[in-house]
Amino acid sequence: NFMRVVVNSASQQEDSGSLGVELLCVVKAVLKKIRRRVLVGDKVLVGSIDWVDRRGMIENVFQRKSEILDPPVANVDHLVVLFSLEQPKIEPFMLTRFLVEAESTGIPFTLALNKAELVNEATLSEWKSRLRRWGYEAVLCSVDTKRGLDTLQFILRDQTSVIVGPSGVGKSSLINALRSNKSIPGATEDDNWFEPILGSKWFEEQRVGEVSARSGRGKHTTRNVSLLPLSGGGYLADTPGFNQPSLIKVTKQSLAQYFPEIQKMLKDNGPGKCTFSDCLHLGEPGCLVKGDWERYPYYLQLLDEVKIREEFQ
Ligand code: GDP
Ligand code: ZN
Repeated sequence: NFMRVVVNSASQQEDSGSLGVELLCVVKAVLKKIRRRVLVGDKVLVGSIDWVDRRGMIENVFQRKSEILDPPVANVDHLVVLFSLEQPKIEPFMLTRFLVEAESTGIPFTLALNKAELVNEATLSEWKSRLRRWGYEAVLCSVDTKRGLDTLQFILRDQTSVIVGPSGVGKSSLINALRSNKSIPGATEDDNWFEPILGSKWFEEQRVGEVSARSGRGKHTTRNVSLLPLSGGGYLADTPGFNQPSLIKVTKQSLAQYFPEIQKMLKDNGPGKCTFSDCLHLGEPGCLVKGDWERYPYYLQLLDEVKIREEFQ
């Protein structure tokens, strides 16, 4: 099993000619023994380098800033939560699940609404103001007309990003539209020393499908995620994520943190917190959170879901 590592620092003896060179690396046995998984996006220490054959060995993994599991990528700086205005239409509860899942990662994210050309401007501004009431500023985009792509490119510049969202909204199309046409520095198309399984992904077109359910992957098949260079700088995972938000990091106590509306009500009202420190905002005495906002029923529904999960754990 090989991993591809792009060299991003030169040692003092070497000239900067090694910067950007891609090395095909094995993982040192001791790391496997202690079950230290190496993920795409990891910063690693590479040794035993053969510059001629461009081979090396991953000897250590640096501490991660962040880690997401679907897809498995380390050091993600930004998420794009992508929905489409039509085909398929936005389902507010589904969108809430994705937003809560994204909030629970702690990674900054942008909400983008694709296929903007399929609805009229009045519908677009209705969605903009509705989402503003939820606490989000949505970027309107269309892969087909290129609307909003420059904004997304600007937001994602110089970061490692992952696009998440339900099936059929245009995630693969957006990945294709944002990726750079250049291959990574140091590698050329006729480099044929790659292992086929990890290899030619850099040069492959992303697959664009019809609106349909995503086919399941075998439970034990490892997913091959690659980071594609973006035309505006930075990297984008070639595999979209969160197809089914699991809310695995969400607890009944933390759920309220993932609703900007609740956070705003707490901030805007007197002491800034409810009387009971473990208040679940269900009408307890001294609760500052009222029930007169659009997503309150979703909050209640997700709270029930999380409670049931916690009882069975
Ligand atoms: P994914 O499942 O989220 O990866 O979605 P895909 O990228 O496979 O796209 C699903 C369908 O939506 C494909 O037929 C795309 O051509 C289409 N699509 C993607 N972006 C747009 C867009 O901006 N406008 C319209 N009308 N269709 C789009
Ligand atoms: Zn409360």
